[in-house]
Amino acid sequence: MARYTGADCRLCRREGAKLFLKGDRCYSDKCAIERRNYAPGEAGHKRVKESEYRLQMREKQKTKRIYGLMEKQFSSYYDLANRQEGVTGENLLRILESRLDNVVYRLGFAKSRAEARQQVRHGHITVNGKHVDIPSYRVRAGDLVAVAPKAKEMLVIKSALISNERVQVPAWLEVDIEKLQGSVLDLPKRDQIDLDIREQLIVELYSK
Ligand code: SF4
Repeated sequence: MARYTGADCRLCRREGAKLFLKGDRCYSDKCAIERRNYAPGEAGHKRVKESEYRLQMREKQKTKRIYGLMEKQFSSYYDLANRQEGVTGENLLRILESRLDNVVYRLGFAKSRAEARQQVRHGHITVNGKHVDIPSYRVRAGDLVAVAPKAKEMLVIKSALISNERVQVPAWLEVDIEKLQGSVLDLPKRDQIDLDIREQLIVELYSK
């Protein structure tokens, strides 16, 4: 699958917001948003006229980047959210949150979603006792997500646990740090997703 391979901090500067793509660095004074909060490139300092379309587009780009997705995959999630009952924007965020790489990150087993994706791809994660190496795998209520026995001593996971002590595990998940596993109590409601995303703008963009 294609993926963005450029500098992560440029993405945050483009969106003018911290997207938390680089683990520890995001919480330090080395964060590019703390130091240079303007868009990258020569025109970065110029004021850009905010049109409705631009706002909608930026919100979609920001959300895509938080979850590390490319356009095609993101728009297929939107189609799925649109077909589900309920509020499309909330459905979309729930689908994104239920990705296995996101759940591994939320449980604190990785410093970033990108690191979580690597762990899943390398077979370090199990769901209900079975290896799952597909980052886009969607968990369901009642699933048990765990670090595979052979990966439990990996430094990258230990270091993520220490680093993530400051990050709160959301209420829809329950983590057992000793066993390096977590349960999906339920899929999240909108108020349990602590991201500054105006999903209605994304719905308006795709509804045009
Ligand atoms: Fe974004 Fe993290 Fe880079 Fe800061 S350090 S600009 S939050 S990726």
